[in-house]
Amino acid sequence: MITAYIGIGANLGDARANVLDAIERLRGAPGCTLDAASSLYRTAPIDSSGDDYINAAARIHTTLDAEALLQTLQGIEQAHGRERPYRNAPRTLDLDLLLYGGETITSPTLTVPHPRMTDRAFVLIPLLEIQPDLMVPGKGPAASFAPMVQNQGIEKLD
Ligand code: ADP
Ligand code: MG
Repeated sequence: MITAYIGIGANLGDARANVLDAIERLRGAPGCTLDAASSLYRTAPIDSSGDDYINAAARIHTTLDAEALLQTLQGIEQAHGRERPYRNAPRTLDLDLLLYGGETITSPTLTVPHPRMTDRAFVLIPLLEIQPDLMVPGKGPAASFAPMVQNQGIEKLD
């Protein structure tokens, strides 16, 4: 059993409903159990366009290997009809594998820890909500990066 962390974002359609549905699909995915889900957060788009994003993070336990877990995440994205017309295009749903146990993975399809997870408030702040003492392999405590993202606007929703 591996503990993995998933970053969830959406900014098209009913973004809040899409993020909540993604969390429910993670709960029901074969080989996965949902262990914790953060609150929802609202953030302005970075390097992207369109409406504000809704973001959240989830902690799961999984028997899937990392590639199979990535495929599960992409299946959930596809269930929401995600298209990739261009890089950083607005998206109905984006699921990123942030951490997979303590592993460091570099393959053509997968980079774990997710390379941008420590410099984006919309990833870091929801993650720290569910796991304040989280360690990022090769980088140290996730909390040590929080001061660097302080200037990025992020609003916790209730
Ligand atoms: P973004 O970087 O904005 O999330 P995409 O979701 O469009 O962009 O990128 C998807 C591609 O990124 C996938 O084809 C996948 O193989 C690759 N990828 C590499 N590492 C990861 C990861 N840790 N989590 C999710 N996708 C990843
Ligand atoms: Mg992605």
